[in-house]
Amino acid sequence: MKTGTRVKWKNYVGNQLADPLQLLAPGTLTELIEIILEAKKKTLKIKAVGAGHSTSDIMLSDDFMVDIRNLNNILPSSQFDLKPGFKDDTNLIFVEAGIHLFQLNKILDDMGKALINMGAYTGQTLAGVISTSTHGSGISLGAFPSYVRAIIMADENGELIQIERAGENSISKGPATIVGGLQVRLVQDDNHFKAIVVSMGCMGLIYAVGLEVTNHYKLKETRQFSTWSKVKHQIDFENLLQDNRHVEVLVSPYKFTANEHKCLVTCRNDPGENEKKSLIPRGHRKWFFEVLLFVIPSTVIDFVMRLIINHFPKMIPGLVQGMFASLTDRNYVDKSFKVLDLGRANNLSAYAMELTFPSDQFTKAVDAILELSNNSVQEGKQYLTGPVSLRFIKTNSFFLSMQYSESENQYVCMIEFPTVRKAFGGYELLSRIESAMRIFNSRPHWGQVNHVGGEGKEALYKLYPKFDEWLKVYRHYSKAGRFQNNFTRRCGIEVEVNPMQIPFT
Ligand SMILES: Cc1cc2nc3c(=O)[nH]c(=O)nc-3n(C[C@H](O)[C@H](O)[C@H](O)COP(=O)(O)OP(=O)(O)OC[C@H]3O[C@@H](n4cnc5c(N)ncnc54)[C@H](O)[C@@H]3O)c2cc1C
Repeated sequence: MKTGTRVKWKNYVGNQLADPLQLLAPGTLTELIEIILEAKKKTLKIKAVGAGHSTSDIMLSDDFMVDIRNLNNILPSSQFDLKPGFKDDTNLIFVEAGIHLFQLNKILDDMGKALINMGAYTGQTLAGVISTSTHGSGISLGAFPSYVRAIIMADENGELIQIERAGENSISKGPATIVGGLQVRLVQDDNHFKAIVVSMGCMGLIYAVGLEVTNHYKLKETRQFSTWSKVKHQIDFENLLQDNRHVEVLVSPYKFTANEHKCLVTCRNDPGENEKKSLIPRGHRKWFFEVLLFVIPSTVIDFVMRLIINHFPKMIPGLVQGMFASLTDRNYVDKSFKVLDLGRANNLSAYAMELTFPSDQFTKAVDAILELSNNSVQEGKQYLTGPVSLRFIKTNSFFLSMQYSESENQYVCMIEFPTVRKAFGGYELLSRIESAMRIFNSRPHWGQVNHVGGEGKEALYKLYPKFDEWLKVYRHYSKAGRFQNNFTRRCGIEVEVNPMQIPFT
């Protein structure tokens, strides 16, 4: 990565660009703190950036952008003053937050451990997926923040703070002892914890995370074609979601046969003792398509897809049909993180919007989405360029998590709309869907394309019942507005800073 002044930065998909004053990549915690102190001296703003996989503006900064991926080591638990029950807990690890998920999975696998749940991809950093409440699927399993036990963060004054839940849910007796003799202040407070864990980089630079993991395990993936009306029935009357560890449903926005929307239902479960990994390596796709994705560079696939989408839009439903056909496989058994990762499809140049729906709203929402998509095709030839994906995930108590609920034992449905980059009318259609879906109390994923805020913070009060609690903690840690950017401005939470006090030297 090129760092320095006047360095151009763009995110993974290439739809977010920045020319910050400085792009910095600290190699040590001391360097990270020095960056904050320098920004403080010059009254500049800072924003942490992970792997840049968010397709929204949450990680951009005009001043200092701090790429933390060099901070990626496992930390010895001896540095932490843990309570007796956690001292020898091999399922509690401490790790620097810039680690990529693929690096973490490898290290955990070598230790005989694994993440309890994850999304469909491993290119992101640990701090990035926690900060935006990135999720996978499973109504008894949480999104990334659910497995966080402690966060060590440098605040806007360069002070190191270790944040944990309060009382019996805390894990430490005292603050961590960090190499180099840096002082850490221990804060055990439920509201601080619930606000900071999911805070889109608005409260500080996360240095390390205490994370709950599990013993390594295998998963078996099964895939079946179905239709949206059958899937609705299975969800409502046949415990489809309750009977499987992970369920994911792809719904075609286009009708094919008998006026039905085709679906692909993917379930992932414990394979049991006797189920062995196949001798011939299997993946998520039919081998022919797996080989195609392997040999044809993704730039060529992107070009061909864009050509079809923008110049022969009537072929888009057929393209989606082809995508479905490529995805059926025989039963696939492998290590959990390999089965959960969708693989090469993640390399295609696409952005997405993703909306969270309460469990009693999502089937009605899907019906409305299908109708809206059909109308957009009729009226303006604006097509959804891929299947709509439904994933189901346990709720949590983090104030600004998309999966937030008063009750932590419910589930939500997250509906994703992947869109080929530069597709005609792509952003417009997503924006129309986002706005139409508000009647179902939907919340947009922070890390995906979204227009949250816009009108100011009133919108956030409507979406998040504990937004006020989050704001109190935000104002506590953001007195000088050091971590604010255009995102905080559009959300109406910018801290007023008197520009006349800025000694720009
Ligand atoms: C191919 C692909 C697949 C995806 N799959 C899924 C999926 O399955 N499920 C899902 O929910 N989402 C998914 N996403 C979205 C993605 O997981 C989120 O946008 C995630 O936040 C990106 O992590 P990152 O490391 O790239 O962080 P960035 O995008 O760089 O940053 C995200 C946020 O985290 C903050 N941040 C990063 N590091 C720190 C730090 N050290 N301290 C404080 N704040 C920090 C940034 O300021 C920013 O606000 C996917 C995105 C892509 C492109």
